[in-house]
Amino acid sequence: MFKKILIANRGEIALRIIRTCKELEIPTVAVYSEVDRESLHVVFADEAVCIGPALSSQSYLKISNILSAAAITGADAIHPGYGFLAENADFSEICADSGIKFIGPSADSIRRMGDKAFAKETMKKVGVPVVPGSEGIVKDVDEAKKIAAEIGYPVMLKASAGGGGKGMRIVWKEDEIEKAFQTAGNEANSAFSNPDLYMEKYIENPHHIEIQIMGDTFGNVYQYGERDCSIQRRHQKLIEESPSPFITDEVRKKMGEAAILGAKSVNYEGAGTIEFLVDKHMNFYFIEMNTRIQVEHPVTEMVNHVDLIKNQILVAAGKRVEDIPEKPHGHAIEFRINAEDPDANFRPSPGTIEYLHFPGGFGVRIDSHVYTEYVIPPNYDSLIAKMIVWGTDRAHAIKRAKRALDEFKIEGIKTTIPFHQKVLMNKKFIKGEFDTSFIDHHFKTN
Ligand code: ADP
Repeated sequence: MFKKILIANRGEIALRIIRTCKELEIPTVAVYSEVDRESLHVVFADEAVCIGPALSSQSYLKISNILSAAAITGADAIHPGYGFLAENADFSEICADSGIKFIGPSADSIRRMGDKAFAKETMKKVGVPVVPGSEGIVKDVDEAKKIAAEIGYPVMLKASAGGGGKGMRIVWKEDEIEKAFQTAGNEANSAFSNPDLYMEKYIENPHHIEIQIMGDTFGNVYQYGERDCSIQRRHQKLIEESPSPFITDEVRKKMGEAAILGAKSVNYEGAGTIEFLVDKHMNFYFIEMNTRIQVEHPVTEMVNHVDLIKNQILVAAGKRVEDIPEKPHGHAIEFRINAEDPDANFRPSPGTIEYLHFPGGFGVRIDSHVYTEYVIPPNYDSLIAKMIVWGTDRAHAIKRAKRALDEFKIEGIKTTIPFHQKVLMNKKFIKGEFDTSFIDHHFKTN
């Protein structure tokens, strides 16, 4: 087992990883930027090293600083969390070259699955259905027009390096394509330093359903069932749940098998998520693979009674997956509590938390790094807490979520709590009748 794990991340996920390390009795090293000095991951890790100023490119994304922190403290493994360097193949490779275990897949797997256009080709080859679209990158507007005419409008232009719903444009007819190509390309370039776009048929009102998998170095790949992440605003997830209220057991089984097939085809090691869009006829299509732990992983943990981070660490240490999935129990829903003002177009609301009270009680889990008087810096994403509830069934989980959100008090900043409370009152949501267009249809968010 590892002697010491460095966590190359911040916020709730850094703390989440530290918690599991403590339970495994593995010492931890936190790294932090100057504005995160007072953050809980710094307080709870055994050691902490400052790696630079607030700007991510000079701290959490600065590979040389992170490796120096590992060298100084004698860490022999690095957990990247999500975001930042988690899907950076070069980082995985540099860690390996420096004799430090990257807790995640090999550089080769990240390269093959991290590039979205390339990943689709990989999946297609093993027979997993993919959204019809371009074969790889679309070179220019002319090629875009040609492919769109073949697959039929509407189409979607998507950033090959994409994430967080950035660099994505729906195109309804040919005369819109030139402008969309330029704006999506520019957005992709500024967000990911890579303007490459690919094209997909736009699936109208799909469900976003993803399968959690875990692979070990013995060639085993397990799947832990699905998460329904259809409650999204601007293609970004806000609420996730498991099981999906939409799909049938038959489709669930087929999606699980497809996910395992895809992961095995790249000898996948560690935690990963295979994302699918599911249309109203329950046809499912692969869209991308996330080669890391995801924000919404606790939903899966709650229904399967497993610790995915623990298994990531075990697998990275060359051991077998310990928590082999069995039949899931009950229903779990995660609410992303963001420091954003839902009444002002979800504008970020950084600042000081003047008062904080977390809900508790049976079946309520809070993953968060904030506390009373914590100052939310404006430099990073706005996720300040995740509330995950578990119930014996979906109706029970919804009732529990309502009472828990009523107990949740944050003063001094705006949050998405009131927005979640409104969603929980919505009849369609309560019935489980929603797809990715739900927020746009039922809520004025602009
Ligand atoms: P990102 O990596 O930026 O999150 P994804 O490829 O995972 O991008 O897509 C994010 C969301 O965008 C999906 O959950 C879905 O709501 C929407 N989306 C993506 N591709 C399509 C498509 N071809 N048709 C319809 N909606 C799509």
